[in-house]
Amino acid sequence: MKHIKPLVALFTLTALTACGLGGENPLLEASWDTAFGVPPYDRIGDRHYLPAFRQAMAEQKAEIDAIVNNPDPPTFANTIEALERSGKTLTRVASVFGAVESAHSNETILEVASTLAPERAAHADDIRLNSALFERIKAVYEQRAELGLDPEQMRLLEEMHKDFVRSGIDLDDEAKVRLREINAELAELSQQFGQNLLEETNDFELHVTSEADLGELPGSLKGAAADEAIRRGHENGWSFTLQRPSIEPFLQYSPNRELRRQIFMGYVMRGDNDNEADNKVILSRIAALRAERAKLMGYETHAHFVLSDNMAETPQRVYAFLDQIWEPALRVAKEERDALQQMMRQDGIAEELQGWDWRYYAEKVRMARYALDEETIRQYFQVNAVRDGVFMVANRLWGLTFVELPDLPRWHPDQQVFEVREADGSHLGILYMDYFARESKRGGAWMNDLRAQSKLDGEVKAVVTNNFNFPPPSGDQPSLISFDDALTLAHEFGHALHGLMSNVTYESLSGTAVPRDFVEFPSQIMENWMSEPAVLRLYAKHYQTGEPIPEELITKIEAAGMFGQGFATVEYLAASYLDLAWHTLTDAEEKDARAFENAEMARIGLIDQIPPRYRSGYFQHIFSGGYSAGYYSYIWAEVLDADAFQAFKETSLFDRSTADRLREHVLSKGGTRPGMDLYRAFRGRDPGIEPLLAKRGLTGGN
Ligand SMILES: [Zn+2]
Repeated sequence: MKHIKPLVALFTLTALTACGLGGENPLLEASWDTAFGVPPYDRIGDRHYLPAFRQAMAEQKAEIDAIVNNPDPPTFANTIEALERSGKTLTRVASVFGAVESAHSNETILEVASTLAPERAAHADDIRLNSALFERIKAVYEQRAELGLDPEQMRLLEEMHKDFVRSGIDLDDEAKVRLREINAELAELSQQFGQNLLEETNDFELHVTSEADLGELPGSLKGAAADEAIRRGHENGWSFTLQRPSIEPFLQYSPNRELRRQIFMGYVMRGDNDNEADNKVILSRIAALRAERAKLMGYETHAHFVLSDNMAETPQRVYAFLDQIWEPALRVAKEERDALQQMMRQDGIAEELQGWDWRYYAEKVRMARYALDEETIRQYFQVNAVRDGVFMVANRLWGLTFVELPDLPRWHPDQQVFEVREADGSHLGILYMDYFARESKRGGAWMNDLRAQSKLDGEVKAVVTNNFNFPPPSGDQPSLISFDDALTLAHEFGHALHGLMSNVTYESLSGTAVPRDFVEFPSQIMENWMSEPAVLRLYAKHYQTGEPIPEELITKIEAAGMFGQGFATVEYLAASYLDLAWHTLTDAEEKDARAFENAEMARIGLIDQIPPRYRSGYFQHIFSGGYSAGYYSYIWAEVLDADAFQAFKETSLFDRSTADRLREHVLSKGGTRPGMDLYRAFRGRDPGIEPLLAKRGLTGGN
């Protein structure tokens, strides 16, 4: 996942004076005298954010006024570039804050975010619904053919114009008033949704006192669970939480069916407990408001509105695409279920397999068929070894090198910071890595920009972050991650490279500022290298002995990789269908969330043992992230990455000229051209779906 930034990065002024605190506010300094100008997290306190945001918004407002009141006729420079330049302080404050809000929040930060949500929404509307400003943009837009603009300038102008139109600038006054109300309410609801989810996730605990209930749980995870128990105030035992690195291994290894049921239900009922943190009414309201807004904007549904600005273009195309994969995936998932059911019978349990049994018996089948032992595998995936693995891949493909900077300010002591250098030693950018799960961090993994690359006013190099929820080190034992975690690390690193390698003029077209169904292409393609045997041999080394991973383990990982693809594909596609169902509503009526979700899952024929990867109550991507009507993007982009990786398979894994073409046509281009154009420029043709189906073992009838 990654955070999507708005296209017109909400505008700047240079720092004015007062910060209202009677002291210095580091967030408002014109520049930072840190190495590479990174944010001075060591001097930034929670109290600085709110006044800095307000100051930055006021600055931007003044800047917009200056553009609007310019007596000269509108030109590309005095309107489009001026708008592009505006809001620098706000962009900077929002980036610095956004990173901390998601990766290291606390009560104060959450309160600031809540307070600001409606103010920021109103501020964005003040700009996007400013008719006088739009008149000037439109005037430039209408003369665009005669202005002698280069392709990137043309793209900036077109995107900016479209952005305003899509924000409702052409609406009549009454509709604009309603639009603002909707946006403000949506901002608050999304905020509330996310906070409820964090609360529901953190409130749950499964405290286990009998070691037998842990089964074959790997030692490193046992240690982490014991640490968690202490943190939660127990004298002994093991505590498990609803964070994926904690719950998943428990479900995989605990032979205690009742405990598995408890934690599984804890997970899938988040936001659906009819308590104060229930999200059902909130999310139904969000969907209804989005439907109403789409209507206001002249679109059939929210999905139509969103998709018209993506590669997929329409919900029909997304449905047609998902349906192509759904059928084979469901067939394979049912075969998997039957194998698990049989394994459970052998265990002497006559009852029907349930959701909380899936991972446990999948692990048993995996052991029986492939003798794949997670614990053994983890010993070859120490987090720093995997990090060195992705660094090596980037080095072989593009000659990049990574130099650790131990003294740069950061928001948590566990973070690592690197300078990224080009093959010739010149500076490319800065990369922050934040690996471990903790309560102050939201779930999942993501990348964000602390500073986006641009060249409008001199060369600005990117500063980006990668965030994960890996198990923290425990005692003397370093963090040993699963093979899937290693792929996640590669994925976010791909987003980071997309930001770092950006080479464009305008910040709002920079790096990962591309449509959502394209943005996962540069991230997912990196996963391919990390699972190639030739690459595994290079980075997967035993954390104690340094021995490379044995050949037989590689063979097993490969063979076992296909097993479970039915489950993984089905749970993912079910969530994609659920997302589309919520966002193809044609009326603004609030639904009974539980009934609505059940009906859609019944429609697609989802089997009882597999819940959608995200049920509505905790579907943060779509109700509190940037992925509404866009969760399908991951598998859409997987068509691209599977097909693109073929280009390396056809030549060689580290083929420099293919790598250079990928950098030249995709990774450096940001959003300066439509995604499909970039892809064709790289590959010389459209992508095909076959490499994806083959990769997931979904071809043929067996
Ligand atoms: Zn991603």
